[in-house]
Amino acid sequence: MTIAKKDVFSLLIILIIALGAISVASAYTGTGFTHDIPFSKYRDMSSSDILNKYPDTDCKVEETAICTEVVDGDTIYLDNGEKVRFVGVNTPERGVEGYIASKNFVQKLCLNKKIGLDIDDAKKHDRYGRTLAVVIVDGKNLNEIILNEGLAEIMYLPPSEFYPYKWVDDSKHVATSEYTYTNTHSDNVPSDTGSYIGNSNSGKFHKSTCKWGQKTAEHNRVYFKSRDLAISQGYVPCKACNP
Ligand SMILES: [Zn+2]
Repeated sequence: MTIAKKDVFSLLIILIIALGAISVASAYTGTGFTHDIPFSKYRDMSSSDILNKYPDTDCKVEETAICTEVVDGDTIYLDNGEKVRFVGVNTPERGVEGYIASKNFVQKLCLNKKIGLDIDDAKKHDRYGRTLAVVIVDGKNLNEIILNEGLAEIMYLPPSEFYPYKWVDDSKHVATSEYTYTNTHSDNVPSDTGSYIGNSNSGKFHKSTCKWGQKTAEHNRVYFKSRDLAISQGYVPCKACNP
């Protein structure tokens, strides 16, 4: 009798753990990082070089403060003591590839500068007490920028005032000239240019259907007709699409 009870008890524990794991997995809708950005990529670019590629945001500045510390690509401290978590996006944690690139980028644009916040009206704080907000630098949505630069992934956790998928919708950005936005639809890839997309900046190449290949900025794109051709030119296969 006692043994049976013990078995039922351990079974219940296992069930509770499994349910917990499932709920965590379903709450998380991340899209993955590119892991393609060398940490020195933005070293020689000025803040305005980067910001000028993007349209002014329609997010409203509800609060302004000075950024005093950048913890990582999606978390900063303000001079009023507030800790801010960029809403709708996620950047690599310390020790993960891409961490330095995203942190350096946010430092370049935010550190010791006056920034604006559009706080998430649907959920003002996360469970760690961090303010959930869009960070606005010189009228631009920085959450949107790190997403489009491939430094962050989408992390949409409803309820939220903001829908980050909208930030990578290329139809919204037709007015921008030099920079080509993410093309998430594989059927939009020109079929006559080759089956593989190389990134001349990262040295990696992708299947034309790979979302990371399609995220490659137009000025960094190289098309290959065959895998062998890409390899012969020194390009390394993407780990995600394994071309
Ligand atoms: Zn790929």
